[in-house]
Amino acid sequence: MHKSEKISDKYQLAGVIGMPAAHSLSPAIHNYWIKKEGVSAFYVPIEMSAADFRSLIDLGPKIGFRGYNITAPHKELAYALCDVVSPEAERAKSVNLIIFDGGTIRGDSTDGFGFIANLEAEAGFTPDGKCIAILGAGGAARSIVDGLVAAGAGQIRIANRTSSRAKALEAIAPDRVHASEVWPAEESFFRGADLIIHATTFGMKGDNAGDNAPWRLPPLHRDVIAAELIYAPLETPFLRDAAAAGATPVDGLGMLLHQARPCFEAWFGPKVDVDAGLRAEITAILKSREDGSK
Ligand code: NAP
Repeated sequence: MHKSEKISDKYQLAGVIGMPAAHSLSPAIHNYWIKKEGVSAFYVPIEMSAADFRSLIDLGPKIGFRGYNITAPHKELAYALCDVVSPEAERAKSVNLIIFDGGTIRGDSTDGFGFIANLEAEAGFTPDGKCIAILGAGGAARSIVDGLVAAGAGQIRIANRTSSRAKALEAIAPDRVHASEVWPAEESFFRGADLIIHATTFGMKGDNAGDNAPWRLPPLHRDVIAAELIYAPLETPFLRDAAAAGATPVDGLGMLLHQARPCFEAWFGPKVDVDAGLRAEITAILKSREDGSK
């Protein structure tokens, strides 16, 4: 490299900021596409506390970063620091993608896109006019409800342990989004649903289904899609119960892979796909972590 040449002249840079960041799968996902597309780029994990977050955002473009992914616990802080945000990020008040665009910091929220794109790719499911039942009302559920409403979903039911959080999501589209007071969700909540989504954290820590589970699933037709958000572990009590009830299960990994596509495209240019090689590589990482924690 010539003396006056900067690393950012030769390589495009991006990364994920979180606290912690070491377990993020984003570096493996983006580095897969960097290699596949032959892009001269580096994508790195960056562990940063909220106190230093602002300085890192200010420094980013000066040291050649195209942008960042933002993960817990900084998504709301990132929203507040952006100059311009997408309508999705504005409605979620949360940002998982930052793009440095000249002197402007742009923010976007790609979880809703990732969820819907994955269902279409994995199960040929499109939300228009459909009846959807969602368990959970946290940040991820909010992004998904927002995306489903924008994509023309017919009716969305939400049940949550804390019912006031489910009620708050009705404001997204009061004519189409309805909160249930019943918890755990029972047969009537699931009746007629084309898609059932599990968006609580139940099952992340090796919880077993049974009496503690947030659902009481009735027998389901195989045309009913049962979509999980959790990807670690890959197999969850919800996916096991939904498959046993007769529905078609879709795991949480695909959403994670698809939400990364618009990020890669915004920083580096090429349009990318979620192909079998990417899925296999990330599945192998998850499996080795699962084996390591046994
Ligand atoms: P969050 O904002 O913290 O919300 C957590 C949700 O889980 C709330 O609805 C909460 O209910 C519920 N909950 C927590 N513990 C529970 C329990 N023991 N029994 C029943 N419900 C319980 O989290 P989030 O960001 O929405 O994430 C939710 C899940 O989605 C996580 O597992 C996360 O890893 C996953 N996720 C996946 C992707 C992906 O790309 N696949 C993307 C984002 C998130 P209360 O309101 O009553 O506390």
